[in-house]
Amino acid sequence: LLGVGALVEDVTQRKLAEEERERLYREAQEAIRVRDDFLSIASHELKTPLTPLSLRLATLERKLERGEHVDPTTLRHARQHLLRMTGLINDLLDASRIEAGRLMLHPQPTRMDSLVEHVLQAMEAQRGIHELRFEHPEQAVQVFADPYRLEQVISNLVENALKYSPDGGLIRVTLQIRGEMALLSVSDSGIGIPEDQQKLLFERYFRARNVSSRSYGGLGLGLYISRDIVEHHGGRIWVESEVGQGSTFHVALPLLGTSATHPPAGQPER
Ligand code: ADP
Repeated sequence: LLGVGALVEDVTQRKLAEEERERLYREAQEAIRVRDDFLSIASHELKTPLTPLSLRLATLERKLERGEHVDPTTLRHARQHLLRMTGLINDLLDASRIEAGRLMLHPQPTRMDSLVEHVLQAMEAQRGIHELRFEHPEQAVQVFADPYRLEQVISNLVENALKYSPDGGLIRVTLQIRGEMALLSVSDSGIGIPEDQQKLLFERYFRARNVSSRSYGGLGLGLYISRDIVEHHGGRIWVESEVGQGSTFHVALPLLGTSATHPPAGQPER
């Protein structure tokens, strides 16, 4: 009887080992699929701005050769395509810096209201049919933050609000003081995010299922980078959204000079 028991035990162990091997194999296959998908999306995204850029440069070249008038809009559009590519490459670099724990922060007393104002002004050219509105307290809203990185977070949220509300509408940016925190909210009336996907948005490469890469370009890195930046400033980022109604992204950061303020943690000095 003892012998039979040992045999059963042995068979069970082998079966478990086999199942474990199969599980690992499936996981490895899935990782390869994710990597391949990412490579094809990333190459496509990087290549997209190149064709219009090349066309515009060819037009400029032809006009200059013939001594014709050169329209500054052609140059501006060419530069926008270059900026888009630079942005994608910077996101890829930032994501690998985060993975290596080497995203540099250079915190200093920073006026968040002025920073938002600056970002919105810079976006005036790309707002298209949208209305951008900013509401903020009369007094200065100061945080202890890396202004370059904080600007990156604000731009990412406003760019997403524009991109994912293709029918236009109002993008409302509000800055409030809530206890010891500054609360920034960016609302749109766009496509929204399915509820079961909302907590996954801040993961690397994640894109919600209602965003097909054909109609809305992107690498799924902006929110991943934003969350890392916000959390390293002792803050929090989250979303409220309803499909077809719109989304509101919130960022809460400790105000300067309150007990909630502490130097951004876990980052090497620049
Ligand atoms: P990307 O926009 O390049 O895909 P992000 O990391 O900025 O990457 O956003 C991740 C995903 O979150 C997007 O692909 C989209 O599914 C969703 N998302 C972000 N902002 C919005 C928004 N304002 N409205 C609807 N969906 C959004």
